[in-house]
Amino acid sequence: MPLRFYNTLTLQVEPFSPASDNTVKMYTCGPTVYDFAHIGNFRTFVFYDLLRRVLSLNGFRLNHVMNITDVDDKIIRNAVAQGKSLKDYTDIYTQAFLDDCATLRLQRPETIARATDHIDGMAKAIHTLEAHGNTYSSDGSVYFRISTFPGYGKLSHNDFSGMVAGARVDVDTYEKNDARDFALWKSPKPGEPFWDTEIGPGRPGWHIECSVMAREFLGDTLDIHAGGIDLVFPHHENEIAQSEALTGQIFSRFWLHSEFLLVEGQKMSKSLGNFYTLRDLFAKGIAPEQIRYLLASVPYRKSLNFTFDGLKSAATAIDRLRNFQLRLNTDKFQEGSAERLETLAARAQTDFRASLDDDLNTAEALAAVFEFIREANIALDSGEFKAGNVASAKAVLDSFDSFFDVLKPTVAEGGLSDMEIEKLVAERTAAKKSRDFKRSDEIRAELLEKGVILEDTKDGVRWKRK
Ligand code: AMP
Ligand code: ZN
Repeated sequence: MPLRFYNTLTLQVEPFSPASDNTVKMYTCGPTVYDFAHIGNFRTFVFYDLLRRVLSLNGFRLNHVMNITDVDDKIIRNAVAQGKSLKDYTDIYTQAFLDDCATLRLQRPETIARATDHIDGMAKAIHTLEAHGNTYSSDGSVYFRISTFPGYGKLSHNDFSGMVAGARVDVDTYEKNDARDFALWKSPKPGEPFWDTEIGPGRPGWHIECSVMAREFLGDTLDIHAGGIDLVFPHHENEIAQSEALTGQIFSRFWLHSEFLLVEGQKMSKSLGNFYTLRDLFAKGIAPEQIRYLLASVPYRKSLNFTFDGLKSAATAIDRLRNFQLRLNTDKFQEGSAERLETLAARAQTDFRASLDDDLNTAEALAAVFEFIREANIALDSGEFKAGNVASAKAVLDSFDSFFDVLKPTVAEGGLSDMEIEKLVAERTAAKKSRDFKRSDEIRAELLEKGVILEDTKDGVRWKRK
C-alpha cells in the first residue's frame, strides 16, 4: 500500500506523492514568538517532524518551509510594554524555539522564514489583490472581501453564502460562525511599529504572511500544507482565499491538521494557563526523549491527554527499548540462527512501515516493534535467540529509531559522553583484575554520581544511563 494521508480538504484518506520532481513542497505554520512555546505547541511541531520522516522513508526529497510569526498584536503589546524593539523582543523567543526544536530532535525545515523579512512581498501581494478586485480599504487598513472568493469555506466545509456582506474583523483569530472580511493590512496605531510600503504605512495581518512566504519559496501550488487543527478556520481558510485569488491556482493539494494536546479535557493553551514549557518539565527531571516519545506515540489525528503518568510510561517504554538494545550489544550468543526470529523481525519491519504509511499510525507502528521485542526477549532468555539473529533485531531498532529517535540518551550539560564512560568502565575492569578494589569502587561511585549505572553480568560489565 502506498503512503496515504487524511486530507482535510476532501475529508478522505488519499494516496500521496508529490506533484513533480520527487520533491515534496511543504509549508507548515510555525510559532508566534511572543513567549516560550508550550508542549501543546510542540505536539504540532513534533507532528511536522514525523511527517518529514515518513516522507523521507518513502524516498521523497523535502523542500519544507516553516514561518516564524514575529509581528502580531501580542508581540507588539509585549515589546512595547518592555520598551524593546520588535526584533530584540522576538529574537529571544525565536532562539528559544529553535533550541527547543533541536532538543526534541526535530529535523530542521529547509527554510525558516521570518515574517518581518518579507513585508514588501506582502504589500505587493495585497496590491495585486486590490487590482483583482478582492479588497477594500477603510481608514488606511485593507480588507479581503470574502464574497469575491466563491470557494470560501471549502477547507472548513462551511457554507458561508448566507453571511452578511461587508462586516469585517480586525483581529486575526475568530470563530467559524463569525466569518467576516478580514484584515490584510492594518493601518498604524500611535506608538506601534509599522512599515512604509507601496500600499502605504502599516503592518500585515497574520494570514497574508503565510500565503506570501509559501509562494515566495515554493511557488503557486504546494504538495502539503500542515498545521494544528485550530488553524483550519480562519487561518487556513483565509490563506486559501488570498493565495487562490492571487494566482488562480490551487494553493495546496493536501491539507494535514494535528489534533490538540489536552489537559483534563481542555486544550493546553497560554490563555487557559494549563500549560507546561519544555523548561518547566526539564526542571522536574523529565528527559527530552520522554516528551518526544509521548507526543509521537498517539496518532496525530487523535487528541492526546497530557499527564505525568503518560510521561512515566514513556520513560518505561524507552527503557525497555534501550535494555533490549543493550542485550543485543552485550549478551553472548550461541552460533546459528533461529528461523522463527528472522520471520518475526521481518514481520515487525513490514508492519512498522505499513502503519506509518497509513496516515502516520504511530500507535500501530509502536505495537509492531514492542510485540517483536517481547518475543525476542523471551527467546533471549531461553537461548533460542542466536548470534545470527542479532543483525535483523538491530535492524528493527534502527528502523524504529530513524523515525521515533529516542534511543540515544540526551547527555546533560557536564555529563559524560559514551566514549568517556567506556574509558572509565575499562579502567574499572583493569583495576578489579589487579585487585585494586578501592579504585574500582571509586570509579563506580563517580559514574553513579554522573548518572551512569553499572551492572556486572556473567557476560561482563554493562552500563546504562539513569
Ligand atoms: P501559535 O504559536 O499560537 O501560533 O501556535 C503554534 C502552533 O501550535 C499552531 O500550529 C497551533 O495549532 C499549535 N497548537 C497550539 N496549542 C496546541 C495544543 N494544545 N495542541 C496541539 N497543537 C497546538
Ligand atoms: Zn500559517
